[in-house]
Amino acid sequence: MHPRAAECGRSALRWAACLLEACRQALFPARCLACRTWLEVEPARTPPAAGLWAEAITRLRPYFCPGCLQALVPLENPMCACCGTTMSGGEGPQPLCAPCREQAPAFDRARAAFAYRGSLREVVQCLKYRGRTQLARPLGPLMHAAYRRFWQPPAVDLILPVPLHRRRLRERGFNQALLLVRRWPWAAGEPRVPVECGVLVRTRATAPQAGLDRRARRANISGAFAVRHPVRVAGRRLLLVDDVITTGATVGECARVLKQSGAAAVDVLALARVVR
Ligand SMILES: [Zn+2]
Ligand SMILES: [Zn+2]
Repeated sequence: MHPRAAECGRSALRWAACLLEACRQALFPARCLACRTWLEVEPARTPPAAGLWAEAITRLRPYFCPGCLQALVPLENPMCACCGTTMSGGEGPQPLCAPCREQAPAFDRARAAFAYRGSLREVVQCLKYRGRTQLARPLGPLMHAAYRRFWQPPAVDLILPVPLHRRRLRERGFNQALLLVRRWPWAAGEPRVPVECGVLVRTRATAPQAGLDRRARRANISGAFAVRHPVRVAGRRLLLVDDVITTGATVGECARVLKQSGAAAVDVLALARVVR
């Protein structure tokens, strides 16, 4: 085909796609997932802007009203060098928060893209508890942007999503951490890190962690994970991924068993973390 003809074909396709999208929005107008106000029809899709915050705004615009989007809080410095929680101020280039000073977590370093509050909390709950799995489409790339921000290749050999117990997996139908990581848009030429499921498994169903303090969370999750094929993690640098870090008890316990199985390093990346 002549290149000009191909170009025309593509622009006609784009135009048809815009028209279809406008019709869909007119017939089924969308509401903000957080506050339920009607969203304005916005036919033109602008490419994501640079920077994590600007990218988040662009990608989440089809799901949230402008007010709720403004309530997203990306995590910024100063943060604890170990667990990544934000701090009011830190001493030296490697500041540590009080819980990490008191007892060093089993993981080496944890980071998250956003604070778990406001509209981001709504998004995560929609994804996890209301089955809105299509939200992984905008959220996965935001998590990938945080990965690129905090890890320079070849810092990680293997990515492990935090597993659910098989009963929970059956009830929910999906593992949200895996859904998110599957949507990472690896760029051409970017070293693609393999995702490994089934090596780290949850052998014990635990009571919900909500409402428990740090110590109780650690006790509740203790012994809940096992490594199925230690040879696959021995000597390797691992990145655990999860949707939300609350106190770090769950990922800490995962890291502990992975290191027991010989992992060289265990880092953690979450979409969001609870900050004090
Ligand atoms: Zn809203
Ligand atoms: Zn810390």
